[in-house]
Amino acid sequence: MSKKVYDEISIKGLEIFAYHGVFPEENKLGQKFIINATLYVETRGAGLTDNLELSVDYGTVCHQIKNFLTTNTYKLLERCAEELATHILISNPLVHEIDLEIEKPCAPIGLSLDTVSVKIHRAWHDVAIALGSNMGDTKRYLDDAVKKIGELKNTTVIKVADYISTKPYGGVEQDDFLNSAMLIRTLYTPNELLDELHRIENEAGRERTIHWGPRTLDLDILLYDDLVMETSELTIPHVEMHLRDFVLKPLAQIAPWLRHPVYGETVDQMLKKTVTYNV
Ligand code: ATP
Ligand code: CA
Ligand code: CA
Repeated sequence: MSKKVYDEISIKGLEIFAYHGVFPEENKLGQKFIINATLYVETRGAGLTDNLELSVDYGTVCHQIKNFLTTNTYKLLERCAEELATHILISNPLVHEIDLEIEKPCAPIGLSLDTVSVKIHRAWHDVAIALGSNMGDTKRYLDDAVKKIGELKNTTVIKVADYISTKPYGGVEQDDFLNSAMLIRTLYTPNELLDELHRIENEAGRERTIHWGPRTLDLDILLYDDLVMETSELTIPHVEMHLRDFVLKPLAQIAPWLRHPVYGETVDQMLKKTVTYNV
């Protein structure tokens, strides 16, 4: 999941008359907004073939921007930019990342200025998730989790590994586990995604009583692009993924080439080093 370097298609100074603003007069009278965007795409295919279908049509994107900004009204430029960036990423699957700036040169602040703007960067993220269950109807818990993850906003399921039966880990006497892994593409930040996974765990009746004890559903974030982060709520990559064959086996089935951004080894290499518990 190392970060790719994309080509860039840029749109500069697209002028749109619209009604965004905190003041009622702004929503009534409207004003000029200027849009600057850089779309990160792979243009190599179109470059070699002259075929527009292999790239992103900037004319279409400009009209999408105009339609979006004139059919929605927001108070804040921040919200305007957030919603518009999401709309462009969702509507144009070949756009992997976007820099988007919305300028409001006539902002009514009672002073003269050249312009004021909000600029954001948004991107699709590739994420690997581990799934586990060892209580009740384990297959149904995993099936439901896969379905609910697929229904998350601005998220696409890329691949789901076969479910495998494994022996429990961590020394607590309990039933065998059913484990799997999946790859998704999402616009969620790591913390937003964790909140959604916790919600799905809670809906499956997950209770946190004994650490590493029995559970209806456990959803862990293994990898998120090549991000390395550590906070009190979230450690990415998952701190023990390189040691656990019940995590690495399903992941190796769908993405053996993924590389751990700290240890530098692929999923396949890490799996070869783990002790096989039982599968
Ligand atoms: P383990 O994390 O060793 O697999 P567990 O999955 O049984 O153990 P939980 O009780 O499910 O542990 O999670 C405890 C907390 O771990 C979560 O509330 C979450 O805040 C935190 N956490 C840290 N890193 C991650 C991650 N990468 N994915 C999911 N949860 C994480
Ligand atoms: Ca876990
Ligand atoms: Ca967990």
